[in-house]
Order: sequence, then structure tokens, then C-alpha cells
Amino acid sequence: MKVITAVKRVVDYNVKVRVKSDHTGVDIGNVKMSMNPFDEIATEAATRLKEAGKASEVIAVSCGVAQSQETLRTALAIGADRGVLVETDAELQPLAVAKLLKAVIEKEQPQLVILGKQAIDDDAGQTGQLLAALLDWPQATFVSHIEIEGSTATVTREVDGGLEVIALQLPAIITTDLRLNEPRYVTLPSIMKAKKKPLETVTPDSLGVDPSPRLKTLKVVEPAARKAGVTVPDVAALVEKLKNDAKVI
Ligand code: AMP
Repeated sequence: MKVITAVKRVVDYNVKVRVKSDHTGVDIGNVKMSMNPFDEIATEAATRLKEAGKASEVIAVSCGVAQSQETLRTALAIGADRGVLVETDAELQPLAVAKLLKAVIEKEQPQLVILGKQAIDDDAGQTGQLLAALLDWPQATFVSHIEIEGSTATVTREVDGGLEVIALQLPAIITTDLRLNEPRYVTLPSIMKAKKKPLETVTPDSLGVDPSPRLKTLKVVEPAARKAGVTVPDVAALVEKLKNDAKVI
């Protein structure tokens, strides 16, 4: 069973992003970039399937600028066997990424594709679902446990008020929840080994996909600053403020 994982290069989750002064987006010049955390979980899940003898090959795919190679190298250090970079400087929105991934999938013919449930930069949470629709494959989103037996994936999903267990016929799309696993610490030897693993670069053109954006960002603004709080001397003063100042009771 071949497994593909989709890995996106995003601003590192520890960076406090700043909105550009012209409100066209966030400033990503000179900030630390890393693999989207949910995609690390996806790559870890695929690697564990390989280690358990359930997967024969793990291929990490990233779409974006040339530096996304670094993200692919991290995926290779976690345990992917090879990487595919769909290189473009174009702004990529979820539908374009889904179309690019579909083209790679048609070429590679995997039985399982694992994506993150959301990218922490655009917070779209759309790519896996769009991809499943484009391929007409079954999908399970927000997955916290995966079992593969023959041509069936049995997965656990976290839903409101409990857990849902569903069976999917492979080939299928899975998107990862935070609790699926804890990605391994990438060691220096695995980074060195990853440098020797194959990494292929293709372009949207060579895949026959037009990645042009369909949505226009009108404005990006900082969240409104919170007003400073006040300390009240006792409960009576708190109730008075809630009633007369905040008018919430
Ligand atoms: P989103 O729909 O943008 O929230 O992204 C959901 C998931 O789709 C991510 O966690 C990745 O697994 C995948 N994805 C999104 N954008 C890219 C990209 N440019 N390259 C590779 N995978 C991506």
C-alpha cells in the first residue's frame, strides 16, 4: 500500500505574525517557517503504517515555493521514502492545492492519502474535503486513530460528545486530528539520511493544472486590542459592574 502525505510550509506556530501595513496579508519575510503541525502528524501516521508493515512506501508532497523542499526534507527525516515538490510562486488556495494533489495522486496511484485537518496559516480546513470530492473517494476527517486491514481503513473520529468509528473502503482520504499521534523527534542521523532520499520537482504546468486563485482577499487586519481589565474589591461590586457597565446580567 502506497501512502501519500500532504505537507505544507507555514509560518512556525511559535511566531507571532504581523499584519502588513497595506493590509494585504501577513508579513512572512524573515520569520521562521516550519511544517504545518497537522502534516507532521500525517507523516508520522504514514511512517508508523510503514513500520507496522501496512504501507510499502510513503511519499510526501508539498505545493509551493522552492523553499518547501526544506519541509519535504523534514518529512523525509520523519520517515517518508521520497518527496514530490509541486513548485510554484503562485498564491495557492485550497482548491488549487486539491487539484495539484489530485494530479500527483493520479500519477502515483496511492491507496491512502493523509492530510492535516487544517493549515495553521489560512485555517481553511478545506483541502482534504475538496480532494476527496475531486477524486470521488471516501473521506474521514479529524481522525484520531487509524487501523488498516486489507482494503479497509477503520478510523476513529472525534465528534461532539464522543467518538465515532467508521470503516472506509480504500483508496481513501484521511485528515488528521491533533490526538492521532505525537510526531517523533527528528534526530541528526535521520536528517542526514533524509538528504540522500529522492526529491522530485514538478510544476503545475507539467501536471496540467491552473493554480490561479479563485478567491480575492479584501483585507487582513489585526484583532481588536483588548481593553485593560479592572480589579473589583468584592462580589457586590462585580455584580454591579456586570449589571450596569457590561449590561450582561
Ligand atoms: P487547509 O485546507 O489549507 O486548511 O489545509 C489542510 C491540509 O491540506 C494541510 O494540513 C495539508 O495537509 C494540505 N495542504 C494545504 N496546502 C498545502 C500545500 N500548499 N502543500 C501541501 N499540502 C497542503
